[in-house]
Amino acid sequence: MQFVPRSEWGAPASSPAASIASTRGVKIHYLGTVYSSREHARCADYVRSIRASHLANTREGYVDIAYNAVVCEHGAVFEGRGAHKRSGANGTRALNEQHYAVMALLGSSGLTEPPEAMLHGLRDAIEWLRRDGAAGDEVLGHRDGHPTACPGEPLYAWVQAGAPRPGGDQPQAGRGDEVEPTPQVARYQTTINGLAYGYGARGDHVTQVGRALVAKGLGEHYRVGPGPVWSDADTRNYASWQRSLGYSGADADGVPGETSLRRLLGTLPSARPTVDLSRLVAAARQDPPKSGAPVSYSGVETVEAALVAEGLLPRRYADGHFGTATIRAYAAWQRRCGYTGQAADGIPGRDSLTRLGQRHNFDVTP
Ligand SMILES: [Zn+2]
Ligand SMILES: [Zn+2]
Repeated sequence: MQFVPRSEWGAPASSPAASIASTRGVKIHYLGTVYSSREHARCADYVRSIRASHLANTREGYVDIAYNAVVCEHGAVFEGRGAHKRSGANGTRALNEQHYAVMALLGSSGLTEPPEAMLHGLRDAIEWLRRDGAAGDEVLGHRDGHPTACPGEPLYAWVQAGAPRPGGDQPQAGRGDEVEPTPQVARYQTTINGLAYGYGARGDHVTQVGRALVAKGLGEHYRVGPGPVWSDADTRNYASWQRSLGYSGADADGVPGETSLRRLLGTLPSARPTVDLSRLVAAARQDPPKSGAPVSYSGVETVEAALVAEGLLPRRYADGHFGTATIRAYAAWQRRCGYTGQAADGIPGRDSLTRLGQRHNFDVTP
């Protein structure tokens, strides 16, 4: 599933909503206002705006976005209040305790028919809440037990049909007693260079692997594209990569090993960021005349963060641009390291940079 954690769409990492042990299941909602189809790049903005409007709603006294999850037309599952949190959307406190609330970004006009990707996303959200939130088997609509048109006719018809995954190649039991198929894919994790890989692992490095697989033409199991949470699709695609390298059996189970990972990415990601000295020096030499120019090397941000932490660079200059303020700050760091004169000119050298990295947790390459 394409899961977007709260921290990635601009909400505080965990919801202040009341905790809850389990529910009978999930209730499906829709937006129910005018809503138009949009590019996925704009979906997070919309979810943020829903949260802001809920927080501004003094009548309801919301402490957070009301839904446990929000699903966009592209199938991404935006973490709302999340698992094990009481919803605020089902109508009454009792109803909120009985079911989680999952909302589809579907309107009462404009985009009114759920695209297949959205139905997959809703299924993903339901299965996630069952797995991680002890949700029961029920899948109902907001209108079940509460006077409302929500979730609209097209989506409610899908709910009544048992909320099937589109093109379902799995048996569709009746509503409330669906059986999860036994996973045929490996679901363990491994750690390489301090980073986790395999089912459930999360982070930018997971997205990086997915993108590399897609670039190799091995993205066939992604429905909506690689994301930061390792899913069965990642495992299946990675298994294809392992088979293409000649591995078989348990060596091609889709959980990375060091050799196949290095061959896929050209390098092994590290839990510690690395700063390439030559690229950093190039940025320091090129950037100062170009105030406001685009960031030329992302490692500059790592170094600037360290200089801010040292109290040498005002935070407002930590912008990824190795400008004159950063040069001045780095020169101060060099003097702190004992350098003087031309050796403290603000252009990073290996020794001073390595010492900065030792104090602020980054490695220097090459
Ligand atoms: Zn609703
Ligand atoms: Zn989207």
